[in-house]
Amino acid sequence: AAAEVTRRLFELIRAVPDFPQSGVTFRDITPLLADADGFAHCIDLLAEPWRDAGVQVVCGIESRGFIFGAALADRLRSGFVPLRKPGKLPPPVVSAQYQLEYGSDALEMRADAPHDGERVLIVDDVLATGGTLAAARSLVEKAGMHPVGAGVLIELGALPGRARWGGGLPLHALLRY
Ligand code: AMP
Repeated sequence: AAAEVTRRLFELIRAVPDFPQSGVTFRDITPLLADADGFAHCIDLLAEPWRDAGVQVVCGIESRGFIFGAALADRLRSGFVPLRKPGKLPPPVVSAQYQLEYGSDALEMRADAPHDGERVLIVDDVLATGGTLAAARSLVEKAGMHPVGAGVLIELGALPGRARWGGGLPLHALLRY
């Protein structure tokens, strides 16, 4: 039954060649979100490894990490804190920069909430090079929170994302390409 659910989830993710640029196969999760059973099963399975992890806060990464992260937070009965692109959150914020193929980007989190030592699960849709997840982790640490791991829907196994995350904290991916 589990294999059947996984097969169905793969079916609900559309591969778009050469988007947003040539050479990239974009994994479009919108058909999965639109499917009631698919979305529910996806959140069930994402939550599974973290049931007894004592997660107090889910940090979701803008913007598709918000969708999975918020649903997961509801399922785990934890809070939700958005990690946003620069300039979206009102001050005060903490931020962490990360390198892209060309240039750099940053993530920001509100700095005015008492999250000291809280147990955090970091959530995104796709793990590619791992730069985004690594930045999220350093941001969470900067804010004095305690990361317990990361959960992603999709891991692109051809890229070094998992190595970049490192072995110290669990990283659970539902689907691997
Ligand atoms: P990275 O920092 O390289 O691990 O990239 C991860 C971020 O980029 C995630 O927030 C994804 O939403 C997005 N992303 C990277 N590659 C893809 C892809 N092939 N399909 C969809 N989203 C992607």
